[in-house]
Amino acid sequence: MVEKMKISVLIKRLVFLACAFALMFSVAFATIDDEIRQRELEKEHLLQIIDEINASLNENRKFQEDVNIKIINTNLKLGEIEREINDISDKIATTEDEIRLKEKEVAELNRLVDEKQELLNKRLRVMYKEGSVGYLEVLLGSDSLEELLSRADILQTIVKSDQDMIVELEDAKALAQKKKEELAAKKEHLAELLGQKIVKKEEQEALLADLHAYSLELIQDEEALQEAVAIRAAEQAEIDRIIERLELSKLAYVGGDFIWPVPSSYRITSPFGYRPELAYLGAGSFHNGMDIGANWGEDVLAAQSGTVVTATTMWGYGNVLMIDHGGGMVTVYGHLSEIYVSQGQDVQVGDVVAAIGSTGISTGPHLHFEVRDNGERKDPMEYVGQYVR
Ligand SMILES: [Zn+2]
Repeated sequence: MVEKMKISVLIKRLVFLACAFALMFSVAFATIDDEIRQRELEKEHLLQIIDEINASLNENRKFQEDVNIKIINTNLKLGEIEREINDISDKIATTEDEIRLKEKEVAELNRLVDEKQELLNKRLRVMYKEGSVGYLEVLLGSDSLEELLSRADILQTIVKSDQDMIVELEDAKALAQKKKEELAAKKEHLAELLGQKIVKKEEQEALLADLHAYSLELIQDEEALQEAVAIRAAEQAEIDRIIERLELSKLAYVGGDFIWPVPSSYRITSPFGYRPELAYLGAGSFHNGMDIGANWGEDVLAAQSGTVVTATTMWGYGNVLMIDHGGGMVTVYGHLSEIYVSQGQDVQVGDVVAAIGSTGISTGPHLHFEVRDNGERKDPMEYVGQYVR
């Protein structure tokens, strides 16, 4: 009865696509560029899906508007039909009253006809009981021919008048009967009309129920679609974040030599590499950075320009700062008393980024300085050795 929006299939398809998308995350990539290309494809795919869902949302809203208009129109139509039904019912009641009146009229005329017939019969019986003699006597009892003719006339006139009266009454009765039958026919027609209107009313009520049910369905679809858009938008934001991180990590090294990170001291208290004196620590016996002894609170400089990727507190390192210099080169500054920069911030070579401290596992104020090349710890002396040799 109601032309419906084909939406459930679309929603099912969107759910299927979401699963396909989720699978893509588990694929391994040969190079950063490969991954970025793949993520861009995923993003494009997601944007298409979002477009499709938004198109469905627009369609859904149009359908909702249509349905609301149909509901209003159906209610108007129902009101009209109900008015018609009341009107017809009134007419039927009036017609029934008229029929009852006509029935009374017919009965009354019937009674009058019977009465007149009775009277006429009486007269005729009187006239003929006496036989032609009696009748003749009445006539012969006349004193003159004029009187005789007159008497005969009068008798004939009386009988004629009675007969005429009966005919008139019969005519009136027939007319009333006919009128009554017409009224009965009219009532029958009205009853038929009423039946049709009631069927129409039931049809409109069924339509209205369908429209209300469909409207509810559309509202639920709209909610599902909005939820789907929100999920896809969140996925898209996640991909954007991944792409941004990938782009950052494939940045070329900013270039140039590292500078010495502690301008107040060139004293190396513990070099990079195996430390036999700490052999009892097991894995801890390998020192993956270089310690520079200095006074508490003295400046720590960015060894090269880059972006702060970590500014936090970590077990062992205490307050720690990591700067990404592009090309996979990262410097790490540990045991800091204070950090002056925050994650995501760009810094220039030589910027004061932190202060010497002894946080984390440390026996006194010093800077633990690491150089990492694509995640591999390198001996910092290879990068800043020229300053102390
Ligand atoms: Zn150290």
